[in-house]
Amino acid sequence: MSQVAARTYAAPHSRPLLTIDLTAVAANTRLLADRAAGELMAVVKADGFGHGALDVARTALAHGATRLGVTSLEEAWRLRDAGLAAPVLSWLNPADADWAQAALRDVDVAVPSLPHLAAVAAAPGRHRIHLHVDAGMARDGADPSTWVRLCHAARRAEVRGEVEVVGVMGHLGCADDPGDDCNALGRTRFAWAIEMARAAGLRPRLRHLAATSATLTDPRAHHTMSRVGAGLVGIDPTRTTALRAAMTLTAPVVQVRRVRAGTPVGYGHVHRTSRATYLGLVPLGYADGLPRVASGTAEVQVRGARRPVVGRISMDQLVVDLGGRGVDLGETVTVFGPGARDEPTVAEWAAWADTIEHEVVTGIGSRVERHAPALARLRSLP
Ligand SMILES: *Cc1c(COP(=O)(O)O)cnc(C)c1O
Repeated sequence: MSQVAARTYAAPHSRPLLTIDLTAVAANTRLLADRAAGELMAVVKADGFGHGALDVARTALAHGATRLGVTSLEEAWRLRDAGLAAPVLSWLNPADADWAQAALRDVDVAVPSLPHLAAVAAAPGRHRIHLHVDAGMARDGADPSTWVRLCHAARRAEVRGEVEVVGVMGHLGCADDPGDDCNALGRTRFAWAIEMARAAGLRPRLRHLAATSATLTDPRAHHTMSRVGAGLVGIDPTRTTALRAAMTLTAPVVQVRRVRAGTPVGYGHVHRTSRATYLGLVPLGYADGLPRVASGTAEVQVRGARRPVVGRISMDQLVVDLGGRGVDLGETVTVFGPGARDEPTVAEWAAWADTIEHEVVTGIGSRVERHAPALARLRSLP
């Protein structure tokens, strides 16, 4: 067994790097804005699906989105702190959240229950609210059994000047499968919810049910606004539309060794080399978001060729079987990218890990450096 001598190598390839292609986000936003019947809300929760909330927000607003959406109020503060003045909606908060601050910072809030409504109405300020109905997931939003009461209570709070009901929102549970009956049920329940709101005297201008999937495949769900997140960053759960993936993850080879046939690799010796080969060490592991369950199936790209990840993916590192020829230290390994050069994609990693692309892109760990091209260059995009 011999080990290739260490050699110095130059930045920027000396560390793992997550490169975000904001031109892809811009193009995806345009496509989604064209498809949507109404306004487009750019959902930038979970740090813009791991792509950088501020970068994705600014790019989307410059290319067709008119509003921003997040789950928690803390995510909304971050947008405001960065100077973003576009309308923002936050839809998932505890009943004792800082509603006064939301009013002060001009953040719309979703109201999914009577306790939430009471707390919002009691907080200082005039609150712009979106009543949130559960359209059939038994997850967030008001249960239909409480919806009519919620609408009437909201109308009373509106008459008292405490809140302004500007929207009604719902979310579909099966929109990634446009043929599923669950979509018709969700649409029907949402239409009923709007009717009940109107009957209670409310006049919500923003009526929004569709996320990425329904925006791409179901115009009947569009109403006056779409809330899209995954699609902005190139994820199409319906697999009907060519969106552009925006994330590329690379890392340098930090060690190369030649091993004999039958050499056990990594924890548990779950892999043994079938022949003499070169192994490359890559400083990325499950703490960086590469799913350990993909051990044994995952591939990466080295010098333009697919190479298997061998042995268990560790917390901080993985081993690549480079075949009969080694590579130089510092040479770049592409873990995933848009797929244009036959590199693995996020969709492939998701399949190897038996999960969805969303989980892969939002799971990239904080110690991986992120790099996105300056927005200034984007302004001149078509
Ligand atoms: C995350 C989320 C969205 C965005 O969904 P995508 O499928 O990523 O477009 C929209 N609405 C709600 C309530 C969400 O939680």
